[in-house]
Amino acid sequence: MAQNGNASELVVLKKVKKHYPVTGGVFRRQVGTVKAVDGVSLAIRRGETLGLVGESGCGKSTLGRVILRLERPTSGSILYDGRDILALSRDEMRPLRRKMQIIFQDPYSSLNPRQTVGRIISEGLVIHGVGTPEERMDRVRYLMNVVGLRPEHINRYPHEFSGGQRQRIGIARALALQPELIICDEPVSALDVSIQAQVINLLMDLQEEFQLTYLFVSHDLSVVRHISDRVAVMYLGRIVELADKKELYRNPLHPYTQALLEAAPLPDPDRKKERKGLTGDLPSPLNPPSGCHFHPRCPKAMEQCRKSVPVLKEKGDRHWVRCFLYGDEVDESL
Ligand code: SF4
Repeated sequence: MAQNGNASELVVLKKVKKHYPVTGGVFRRQVGTVKAVDGVSLAIRRGETLGLVGESGCGKSTLGRVILRLERPTSGSILYDGRDILALSRDEMRPLRRKMQIIFQDPYSSLNPRQTVGRIISEGLVIHGVGTPEERMDRVRYLMNVVGLRPEHINRYPHEFSGGQRQRIGIARALALQPELIICDEPVSALDVSIQAQVINLLMDLQEEFQLTYLFVSHDLSVVRHISDRVAVMYLGRIVELADKKELYRNPLHPYTQALLEAAPLPDPDRKKERKGLTGDLPSPLNPPSGCHFHPRCPKAMEQCRKSVPVLKEKGDRHWVRCFLYGDEVDESL
C-alpha cells in the first residue's frame, strides 16, 4: 500500500490506533481497552471517493473523526497534503480545519433546531471570519441553490424541511468553507430508500463541480458501490480488504467481504435460498477475539487464525487483503 505522502494522496494514515481505556470497580482501575481503530494504514487520493464499509461498531466512524482530528489517535501518524497534522498546534490546525468537513448521519440531530437554515449554513463562515454578514448570506443562498434547496427558505427552521432536505442543509454547511475533503459519515442511512439515491447523486455532482475528495463511511456495501472509486472493508478496528470498486465486487477475497456481499439485498427473491451471509454478531471491540478478529465467524478459519494476525498484503493489481488464505505472513505490529 502506498504509505508515503505523494502528490496524488491527500490523506495518508500510518498505523493509526485509537484505543479507549475502560475503567471499573471502586478505584476506577483500568479493566480493559476498547480498540476502536487498531493499526490502520490507508491513503485517500485526491479527487476520489474511498468507501469505508463495515458493520456498526467496527470503528469506521471513529476513524473518520480521527482523520479530522476531532479525536486524537493513541498512536500512528496522519499526513494531510504531506503535513503531519498531529504535530500542528491549534492555530496551525485552523486553516486546515476549513479544508476538512463532515456530513453526519442524522440530518435532524446534527442541525440546531433553534437556528435558521441561514445561520446553520453560515456558522463556519462566521467562526472563520469569512466575509461581511451580507456576503455570508449571499453565499448561503448560493449554496442552498447548489444543493437543491430554495434560497427564499433561508429563514426557515430545520423542522420545516423533510429528511432529505435536512441532509441537503448538512451538505451545504459542509461546503460553505470550500473544503477539499469531506467525511461523509453514513450520510444516507437515516433516509428513505427513495431519497438515498437523490442525495448520493447530489454528492457525486458536487464532487465533480468542486473537485472534492470523499471518505464515504457506510455499513451498507450496496450504498457504497454506486459512489466509490475504491472500497476499504473494516472489521473490528482493522482494514481487512481494499481494492478498486469493480475488482472488490467482482472478486471479493476476504471471507468477511464475501459474507457482507452475500448478505446484501438481491433483486431476485429466488436466490435468497442460496445465500449464507454473516452468522453471529460483531464481537465487542472491548477485548476482541485473538488473532484474526473474524475467526469466530469465519467458515474457513484455521488453527493459525486464532493465534496470529495476518498482514494486509497485495494480491493482484491494487487489491489488498488481510487473511491467511492468501499467505502465512504475520503482522507483528498488532
Ligand atoms: Fe478466516 Fe483465517 Fe482468513 Fe481470518 S485469517 S478471515 S479466520 S481464514
